[in-house]
Amino acid sequence: MRHKSAPPLKTIAYFSMEVGLESGIPTYGGGLGILAGDTLRSAADLGVSMVGVTLLHRSGYFRQHLDPGGNQTETPDLWNPEDILHPLEPKVAITIEDRQVRVRAWRYEIQGLSGHKVPVYFLDTALSENTPWDQTLTDHLYGGDSHHRLCQEVVLGMGGMAILSALGIKDRVIYHMNEGHSALLSLSLLESRLQGREGLIHTEADVEAVQRQCVFTTHTPVPAGHDQFPWELVKQVLGHDRAALLEATQCCVDMSLNMTYLALRFARYINGVAMRHGEISVGMFPGYPIDAITNGVHAVTWTSPPVADLFDRHIPEWRRDNFYLRYAVGVSLHEIQQAHAQAKQELLKEVDRRRGVHLSENVLTIGFARRATTYKRPDLLFSDLDRLRGLARQVGPIQVVFGGKAHPQDEGGKAMIRRVFQAAAALGDAMPVVYLENYDMSLGKIICAGVDLWLNTPQRPQEASGTSGMKAALNGVPSLSVLDGWWVEGHVEHVTGWSIGDNSESPAEPSQDAASLYDKLERVIIPLYYGKPEAYAKIRRSAIALNGSFFNTQRMVSQYVTNAYYPFQENSRN
Ligand SMILES: *Cc1c(COP(=O)(O)O)cnc(C)c1O
Repeated sequence: MRHKSAPPLKTIAYFSMEVGLESGIPTYGGGLGILAGDTLRSAADLGVSMVGVTLLHRSGYFRQHLDPGGNQTETPDLWNPEDILHPLEPKVAITIEDRQVRVRAWRYEIQGLSGHKVPVYFLDTALSENTPWDQTLTDHLYGGDSHHRLCQEVVLGMGGMAILSALGIKDRVIYHMNEGHSALLSLSLLESRLQGREGLIHTEADVEAVQRQCVFTTHTPVPAGHDQFPWELVKQVLGHDRAALLEATQCCVDMSLNMTYLALRFARYINGVAMRHGEISVGMFPGYPIDAITNGVHAVTWTSPPVADLFDRHIPEWRRDNFYLRYAVGVSLHEIQQAHAQAKQELLKEVDRRRGVHLSENVLTIGFARRATTYKRPDLLFSDLDRLRGLARQVGPIQVVFGGKAHPQDEGGKAMIRRVFQAAAALGDAMPVVYLENYDMSLGKIICAGVDLWLNTPQRPQEASGTSGMKAALNGVPSLSVLDGWWVEGHVEHVTGWSIGDNSESPAEPSQDAASLYDKLERVIIPLYYGKPEAYAKIRRSAIALNGSFFNTQRMVSQYVTNAYYPFQENSRN
């Protein structure tokens, strides 16, 4: 007999090592965490039944300090969870190296536009019953060595499962692993199936049962970006029995535990984060069915106040339904110019406040802000300083705003920041370049919205998606970007922005990319900006209408719902 009402949809438990919810909660390091926060916010807006699971990271990622030479130093980014989160009652114990490590959770609540709530659970091991070392496991995001990291990932994956279970979230749950860090949750699922069975023998049917509950999103096309742990370490941390179980499930490659392979093995649905990244992932992991769902950003979060006001006046539906941003085509160019000019004022004020540098509101302003790491090539713009000086002098003036932290152990990334400082010094007044310290969500919002052109120069094909150009587009800021990640889909030449180089899949020589970048600035962008402001405003408007309406997490979460969470006819099954 069919029931009248369908059973409630399964709850999604979204696991992520980092989550960016607000600037006061510094538990994110870059795009991965921002995406996680935006995903949870859009799930709340859409009324999707979802909970988030992450670590508390009491010392945050880090606070960045830059000396006059551009040398980065770091201090802990301490925050008080007590002021923002609610501690929860249950404490669970997990086994790490034969010790019991106690874990509790703190709750944060996201309220969606419709009032629907999505809780986020922050796992914490800083409990007096734990050893001092175990208490550090939830202290720093990406802080320790590989031993510390593996223990952290046990807390995230297995501790997270234990906490959810203690909170009564265990039946009809789909687990979404946002990157491989949380893949040990699949080991917990497998173990609970095998409980009471002799010798932990499992069959392919057990693996399939776990797969039915798991979704995995991979985020990097760079092999070194995938966590791997040597087998000796895995045995030490997880113990002999668990290590043997993992080994029997064939997710160990080259005598190490590769968290991506673990997640691939146990997920029923796997995706990359943009069309091109999906294709590259299929090549990297042959034999796995890998789909693509292109990333987005949470539109209401990343739209600057003056632009949000403009949308509210002309397309008030945009908050509820981001697809209505398509109707920006009906907004006057003049008003788009005005809203952007206001956002630019805000940025210039912030630059003045932080650095005491007075930039001009009449000068074409280029923005570049994201994690400082080698493949993103923040220094590509400075490949030929003479040519750049010539452009600024003869074609039209330019000024540049930079931001971005390098991981404390990423010497290449730190060198990139120094190179930007050196170029800034060499250019002097010929082309003002400012680097803003301690890039975070609030600064990201101001920079992405306030500049006139968003520059993106990754070494192809290493940018899985990239999201800051999407934030810029929402605010009417076109991109000048290498055709990689999301830009392969978002780019319409001279309509939503401009490409650097062509769309071939082979990597270009850095000198070719630099030449293309200068050519576009010289022949197209600078003359357009100064000579045809109306035409430039039209490109701003198309960036909003074509890209803002699509590259948002409302569309993205809807795609996860359709393709990953509730595929088949599950919605109508009783
Ligand atoms: C959006 C954002 C990022 C991601 O930038 P990408 O362009 O995807 O590299 C990183 N950090 C912060 C603070 C952000 O707001």
